[in-house]
Amino acid sequence: MAKAATKTKWKSRAVTRLIEAGSMTECAHCEERVKFKARERHKQVICNVYIDGRWDHVEHYHEPCYKEAGRPFGKPVD
Ligand SMILES: [Zn+2]
Repeated sequence: MAKAATKTKWKSRAVTRLIEAGSMTECAHCEERVKFKARERHKQVICNVYIDGRWDHVEHYHEPCYKEAGRPFGKPVD
């Protein structure tokens, strides 16, 4: 019999966020700065990457770049 209490396996996931002022991260796809622009409310996709069920690192993407990359960590949630 399989164990009833299966451990939750953490999976990589993506969320969409507005780019914040002072953002210093680089897009994992185009390698350009994910830059805040006062007049344009651009969005970024932040991905928590899990490897073998353990958190490994965070990746940032411009929203269009994430789509272009083929949504490597699934559909982003808000
Ligand atoms: Zn980009």
